[in-house]
Amino acid sequence: MKVAVVGAGPAGSLLAWRLARDGAASPTLFDASHPREKPCGGGLTLKALQLLPAAPASDPLPVRWVDACRFESGHGEQVDMPLPRPVAIGARRDVDAWLLRRAVEAGATHVAERVTQVDGGGALRTAAGREERFDLIVGADGAGSLVRRTFLGATPPARLTMAAGWFAPGTATMTVRFVPGLAGYLWLFPRPDHVGVGICAPLQALPTRELIGRLRDLVARSYPALSDEDAQPYAHTIPSPSTDPASIGEIAGERWALVGDAAALADPVTGEGIYYALRSACVLADALREGALGRYPERALADFGRELLTAARLHARFYAPGFTRRMIRFASRSRAIREVLTDLVLGDQGYGGLKRRLVRAAPRFAWQYATSTFR
Ligand SMILES: Cc1cc2nc3c(=O)[nH]c(=O)nc-3n(C[C@H](O)[C@H](O)[C@H](O)COP(=O)(O)OP(=O)(O)OC[C@H]3O[C@@H](n4cnc5c(N)ncnc54)[C@H](O)[C@@H]3O)c2cc1C
Repeated sequence: MKVAVVGAGPAGSLLAWRLARDGAASPTLFDASHPREKPCGGGLTLKALQLLPAAPASDPLPVRWVDACRFESGHGEQVDMPLPRPVAIGARRDVDAWLLRRAVEAGATHVAERVTQVDGGGALRTAAGREERFDLIVGADGAGSLVRRTFLGATPPARLTMAAGWFAPGTATMTVRFVPGLAGYLWLFPRPDHVGVGICAPLQALPTRELIGRLRDLVARSYPALSDEDAQPYAHTIPSPSTDPASIGEIAGERWALVGDAAALADPVTGEGIYYALRSACVLADALREGALGRYPERALADFGRELLTAARLHARFYAPGFTRRMIRFASRSRAIREVLTDLVLGDQGYGGLKRRLVRAAPRFAWQYATSTFR
């Protein structure tokens, strides 16, 4: 089976690696962008790390291992948490190139050309004039996906988070700071040789230049060493499913399929997208190995999709005034709540069992969570 994979980010490269490794198809990976820095925090949770190919001794995963995380309420409270197992943070320029090397080593063909046109008959055209026909075209081409726009239409604005930031020299404690009134958060993610500084909020909540203005003010006030008035900030969207299962059921057709951001599969609460990019690639690779492309959407829904739909339903409650502040206050007093937060950071705690675990860990907090009586 001839498979064109459009885009060599985490989703495309992992899919190509899996298809080539398993001998399920001969994948051609189209992407002209490398080397490049994709706007991203670059945080890889444990569950994401577990999906990556093993690192050869001569080519270790180019990340910084981080074993502590600070949460700040935005009202002055904060809690520092050691992580029982480290998370990894890397520059996407390096991490994505590392994963692309694994795909090529396994036998995938990398064509460094941008795709400009695809159609329902499997035809693909590139900016360099190449024309080729494939049995299947996979859109792994990120938030602005050409493949998605061709077969399905762009992700609706209500399902987009806007994220903006810059890269600052130096180092910092890994920090997540909630921003009152924003339904989003600010992050400081230490990478091997610099810090990713960023902020995110629903696209429709405020104009991007205001979001960047909020970030500049907060960093200048609270983390002046990372402030840089001259830094050219980036801004990029993160697409997620809605609360409707159809928003996941739509991600494949007769000769096409979408993975990662092209399929709009990031977590609507946290913006975590790398895990879902990798996981959707695994689910699609398994379906293709079994000759069951048509079952990919339902398998994606069963494997990780319900978790994302739950997150979409929880979004408003999580960012309701007072909730995150209360959570951090409780965490500073309760080891059980700190453990829940730690597992959320590590990716070990899903949203499905969250309420049950909170009830066991801290009944008063869970009661307030259930009745939304936070102030
Ligand atoms: C500011 C910001 C911070 C984030 N922080 C985190 C984080 O810390 N942790 C986390 O898990 N997630 C984070 N995310 C989300 C994460 O970046 C994405 O979910 C993830 O990159 C999706 O991977 P992907 O492979 O689907 O797409 P992408 O990483 O976007 O890769 C798509 C690739 O396709 C290529 N491409 C696009 N169009 C074409 C074309 N026409 N032809 C050929 N190639 C094409 C692009 O050049 C790119 O290489 C963040 C997102 C943003 C915007």
